[in-house]
Amino acid sequence: MAAACPCGSGASFAACCRPYLRGEAHAPTAEALMRSRYTAFVRRDAVHLASTWHPSTRPLDVAAGLDELEWRGLEILGTTDGGEGDEAGTVTFVAHHATGVLTLGQHRETSRFVREDGVWLYVDGDLS
Ligand SMILES: [Zn+2]
Repeated sequence: MAAACPCGSGASFAACCRPYLRGEAHAPTAEALMRSRYTAFVRRDAVHLASTWHPSTRPLDVAAGLDELEWRGLEILGTTDGGEGDEAGTVTFVAHHATGVLTLGQHRETSRFVREDGVWLYVDGDLS
């Protein structure tokens, strides 16, 4: 049985985020990119995080801190625009994490994405 994608889409990893992490395809929507970036956090894939981060806001060391949290699940709460015909969009989500057995937390953010030359990129986000 194929492994479920970490992003929680219900699809297998191979049919969901893997092509984006491997650079075989570009995510068609802002939400698909958001999901692939969550999966990259789960898999500690700094290469995918760097390649999908807008150069104007990308940290010098994308890998810094990647090992600190254990990610436990993603919920997409809403989106605005970010579709295949759009040039910008937002995705609001909650990502659940743990720093230890008893320390559960969540990261809630509205992320901004832009599409440049047909490729969606993460710009920044507001914590909420
Ligand atoms: Zn996925």
